[in-house]
Amino acid sequence: MDNTELTAYIKSQAKCLGFTACGIAQVTAVNEETQTATNSWIANGNNGDMGYMERNTDKRYNPSLLVPGSRSIICVALNYYNNIDEERLYLSRYAQGNDYHKIVKDKLYTLLGDINKHRATKGRAFCDSAPILERYWAVKAGIGRIGKNRQLIIPKAGSYFFLGELIVDIELDYDTPLTKDICGNCDRCLRACPTQALTSGDFDARKCLSYLTIEYRGDLPKNIGEMMGNCFYGCDRCQTNCPHNNHPTPTTEEGLKAKNLLQSMEKEDWEALTKEKYEELFGNSAVERCGYELLKRNLAAVKKS
Ligand code: SF4
Ligand code: SF4
Repeated sequence: MDNTELTAYIKSQAKCLGFTACGIAQVTAVNEETQTATNSWIANGNNGDMGYMERNTDKRYNPSLLVPGSRSIICVALNYYNNIDEERLYLSRYAQGNDYHKIVKDKLYTLLGDINKHRATKGRAFCDSAPILERYWAVKAGIGRIGKNRQLIIPKAGSYFFLGELIVDIELDYDTPLTKDICGNCDRCLRACPTQALTSGDFDARKCLSYLTIEYRGDLPKNIGEMMGNCFYGCDRCQTNCPHNNHPTPTTEEGLKAKNLLQSMEKEDWEALTKEKYEELFGNSAVERCGYELLKRNLAAVKKS
């Protein structure tokens, strides 16, 4: 297979593996504009307690330092949308199924195996698991564009997607970034954000309910319950209100489908959540990152609202 045939084969295999989108970018240093904007965002403290964003900047800004000998980044998107009842106590959509890190990475290593049937290739798979500017590379790979809600939006598909990357040591044909403005005059996500974490052109993670209820380990700000509404883990309003998500397709990935046990939880069940029940609900889930105590903290805040 020549590069063009191999590139087409990779995209076709990615589709067979269940990825909605697959694009490929050449490994280069991240452009100056993005580096400057990221540095300044962090210098202003917008990352809150997410200190990991301040580390490994050399690798973050140059994937060839993360994976020596790398030539191409194969970027993929896996649909996690579940049609759930938003009126009940709300756990972010991305966390309704099993832990996505392993699901996406396993698929990417299967893809690497497929590539090796045609050309000897070394590679490493990533999914929210290393210093990689995932949305930057997804844009470079032509998958979508970043909206005012700071999410990667895939035209005609929306933003309910996990992103993954397979960084390989072979040259391939590269995609061209999309140029069409994805937002236009729309500002629905800015208006929907209950905490003003999103402003035109900026995002302050310290005010974001997703950060506060998932990443932040301290006491929640007073009166946050009112802004949380029924959301005790994550928030998603900047996605649910985005017109690109008006007609989402539910995920067909078994491991990402909403667990029946979660769907059966009533308000009283959440309020009475025990450690044992937490482990039963989230034994193989990204919610493990939050932990039982923080989930109880969140539930107590929602309860007060
Ligand atoms: S997740 Fe919620 S709080 Fe965070 S930016 Fe989106 S709408 Fe605002
Ligand atoms: S809600 Fe509107 S402004 Fe916000 S990301 Fe979606 S299209 Fe863009």
